[in-house]
Amino acid sequence: MRKGNKELIREINRTLVLNLIKNHAPISRIDLAGLSGLSAASITGITAKLIDCGLIFEKEEGDSRGGRKPILLALNPHGSFMVGLKLTEQYAIGALTDLQATVIANHRSRLKNRSIEAAIDTMVGVVKTLSDQGGMESEELLGVGLGLAGIVHGAQGILRHSPILGWRDVPLKNMLQDRVGAPVYVDNDVNTLTLTELWFGAGQGVDNFLTVTIGRGVGLGIVINGQLYQGAYGGAGEFGHTVIDPEGPPCACGKQGCLETYTSDPALMLMVSDAITRGEMEEGVETVADLLTRADEGDVAARKIYAKAGEMLGIGIANLITLFSPQLIIISGEGVRAGDWIFEPMRASIARHVMPGLAEDTKIRIDVWDDDAWARGAASLVLKKLFESPMHREMIEFSA
Ligand SMILES: [Zn+2]
Repeated sequence: MRKGNKELIREINRTLVLNLIKNHAPISRIDLAGLSGLSAASITGITAKLIDCGLIFEKEEGDSRGGRKPILLALNPHGSFMVGLKLTEQYAIGALTDLQATVIANHRSRLKNRSIEAAIDTMVGVVKTLSDQGGMESEELLGVGLGLAGIVHGAQGILRHSPILGWRDVPLKNMLQDRVGAPVYVDNDVNTLTLTELWFGAGQGVDNFLTVTIGRGVGLGIVINGQLYQGAYGGAGEFGHTVIDPEGPPCACGKQGCLETYTSDPALMLMVSDAITRGEMEEGVETVADLLTRADEGDVAARKIYAKAGEMLGIGIANLITLFSPQLIIISGEGVRAGDWIFEPMRASIARHVMPGLAEDTKIRIDVWDDDAWARGAASLVLKKLFESPMHREMIEFSA
């Protein structure tokens, strides 16, 4: 339902002030009035409300310009908490974070089976455990962000299709919200990771960048003019399912020769079993971690497998550079642990396939992977809601 105009304007002013504090802290009330164009009385009222909610606090006294020293305001990192969840085929992985997306506690729980109900139960359990670990009251939980692979309609909170989980049209937001008693926001996991890069990571201050993830699948987050781009239907960035060889291996999405059939953990393991069958590789490689050990030990077949994956990834990234001409491409995800076995052939392949004149300006940065990153990314969904203009939010909800 549309809100009354007065209430909407109040909310817009509140968001404006909150954003000014986030970007300029520590900042005085006088400077907030100057920057926002709001009256001193409005600023006093709004900041009192924000202090009340625990979102900001009076941090310190500033320099006096003659007369009394002004009190400076800043975001209160410990005033509110959020939970980020990442759902995989096997686990619900959660992190409790503060307003700066700093992880306070983490917990993971194995799914009993592949049903939607089991996943919801497990996620509710993880939220409960994290709240207990953080010792927080339920009203201090600002919200829960959930990231998962697949096509997600963020505004409606519906998972449209997840090839990995084998689910279609699941109203995850409503199902989870009913159980955790706090607002729930859902998005594609790579989008949530990209938001964290934009706000707290290598994407800070970069207006046009891409995040490519490798690991279980291959994902893409797109930032254009400082905004996450999600396409008209929320499905933008299914980079792993762009076809690079129409004659290639079958893919979980039902097509053939998608990038993911060369550059994902299952694809690597398929190449391993082929190499073992052909007698090119000794048995005993059960996981990608084993494959990496073999490559490090000098196993030629293992290095060849990574080289193939890197070459195909490079073709895909060359196409991205040709399409987007981004300032920066961040490569992230569990797969970065393979290091130069995959990234050297990738760089060579990019150089070979990108349109001449385009590659020189794009910087490529390989993230150091940490296991909290997915869940911390999902928590930033809650932050996004907190800081984005209510006008923008209303328009999205209205059109959804
Ligand atoms: Zn596919």
